[in-house]
This record gives sequence, C-alpha cells and structure tokens, in this order.
Amino acid sequence: MRICSRCRAEIPQQADRCPECGQACPREKVKMTPLHPLPSRMYAEMVKEVLEKRGISCIIKTDLLSSAFGSDGTSAVGTRAVIYVPEDRCQESEEILHQMLDHI
Ligand SMILES: [Zn+2]
Repeated sequence: MRICSRCRAEIPQQADRCPECGQACPREKVKMTPLHPLPSRMYAEMVKEVLEKRGISCIIKTDLLSSAFGSDGTSAVGTRAVIYVPEDRCQESEEILHQMLDHI
C-alpha cells in the first residue's frame, strides 16, 4: 500500500495521484519482463485479456519486422508482439501463455 508523500492519505493501487490532494504519486516501478513473443498483436491482445482477468497487469509491445528481407515483394510487413509482465508474475504468466497457445 502506498501513502501520499504530501498528505499521508492512502493511494489506491491503480492510481497515479493522491485522491485527497492530487499529489502525483507514480506507481512503483515494477520490473517488467518479456514473455515468449507472439506472432501477432491479435494473440497478444487475447493473452493480455486473460492475464488481466487474473490480476496480472501487462503491456504489449509490437515490433515491426523489417520488410527488407522480403525481396520477392509478396511478404507483408509483419509484426511480432511481445507481452511484458511484472517480474514477480512472470512464471505464472508464462504458464498461462503456454496453456493458451496449446489451444490456438
Ligand atoms: Zn495527498
């Protein structure tokens, strides 16, 4: 639980500022760890939804794969999506991810 540095009020988990005085209270920097990359953002969004239902906050980062390798002109520019989760939930998230990928 966090306490406002100005007025000592309790700050809700998801809040970025103090509800009492408005003091900016950035969330604790949690180290985010990447999970196994997913072939598209669509999968990543699905996994994110499941993880968030379990209370694991996550962020998706997508890399544009360079089209420079597709010299035949037919390959579209693809994306690779990587989900980042808090380090302490990493193992749990990987397990969920693997279970989901088994069903895709
Ligand atoms: Zn405050």
